[in-house]
Amino acid sequence: MNQTQATPQATNQKRILTGDRPTGKLHIGHLFGSLQQRVALQHQYQTFVLLADVQALTDHFHNPALVRENVLEVALDNLAVGLDPNVSRLVIQSQIPQIAELTVFFSNLVTLSRLQQNPTVKTEIAEKRSLFGESVTYGFLGYPVSQAADITIFDADLVPVGEDQLPQLEQTRELVRKFNSIYGKADGAGILKEPQIQLSATPRVRGLDGNSKMGKSLGNAVYLSDSSVTVGEKVLTALTDPLKARKTDPGRPEVCTVFSYHQMFSPNAPEIALECRSGARGCVDCKLQLARSINTQLEPIRQTRAFYQSRPKDVMDLVMEGTREAGAIAEVTLARVKEGLYLNYGFD
Ligand code: ATP
Ligand code: MG
Repeated sequence: MNQTQATPQATNQKRILTGDRPTGKLHIGHLFGSLQQRVALQHQYQTFVLLADVQALTDHFHNPALVRENVLEVALDNLAVGLDPNVSRLVIQSQIPQIAELTVFFSNLVTLSRLQQNPTVKTEIAEKRSLFGESVTYGFLGYPVSQAADITIFDADLVPVGEDQLPQLEQTRELVRKFNSIYGKADGAGILKEPQIQLSATPRVRGLDGNSKMGKSLGNAVYLSDSSVTVGEKVLTALTDPLKARKTDPGRPEVCTVFSYHQMFSPNAPEIALECRSGARGCVDCKLQLARSINTQLEPIRQTRAFYQSRPKDVMDLVMEGTREAGAIAEVTLARVKEGLYLNYGFD
């Protein structure tokens, strides 16, 4: 695992900032929602993948050990799906203190009501009622502000996102415009770069239980690291069309969670739909075939993961190197920010 990374300063490539919360291992929702896209773009853009441990603590503050453990797991998942350590960087968010500083400056430029109206945050707060009750923390409500700092501290040009992240990205762009309009130069030159958004073409992947979202904290996920046996067992529990009680009953693929996965994993999904509708195909057969289709796609991912998993120290060295490079970029951006805010005292 010898890295020969081009230094960020030495390239004119545009930059992508993306990332994952280390709250658990990554699942097939991530594969289609974000990972495939980031792997496809990594040779075209200089890619920084943030292991967002500080953001993970906004709703896992009671379990920091879990977040720490999952930093390595999420790094392994990224490498397993083809993130190339020779061109992309994995970065630990908490080790870039400039993000926290920029978050503080941004927090003056956003109103509480603007944060409370963010539809994704609203949905997430409702999902986390058992954690927050009726009263959400300042940290969780403010995570879009910290996310804006994640993106802008690295001068990112592009952020690839799923539709659930659109409101966050809109807030980032708003914050950058506001920041630049107040603190930018008199000639109109901005301090921070306003990132472009690239929306993922894939719709949200459903959970095994039929929930509209597969989530690591929702207990309804097929993880990229699941064994073939576990995939088989999980697929058997997946929700199908409730009106198709017997094998020969005609089914409705459009409401069937299992079919939604066939569309992602089985090349013969159109025939499967026809056979389901005509009653020629039963749900058990359909699930067995799905497990085979998923396992076919996950097998090479498992093998790559095993390769890196047997070298945890090398992986963490890689992460530390990526973090060091990212830190150098963050320092330069923060110096510009502090100059704009008249906070460049020069004691050091
Ligand atoms: P948690 O339950 O801890 O919130 P999660 O499974 O929602 O975990 P995140 O790390 O919050 O995972 O998600 C990061 C990004 O991954 C999301 O913003 C989204 O773009 C993508 N993603 C997550 N789940 C799905 C899904 N089911 N379908 C498509 N994309 C997804
Ligand atoms: Mg989530």
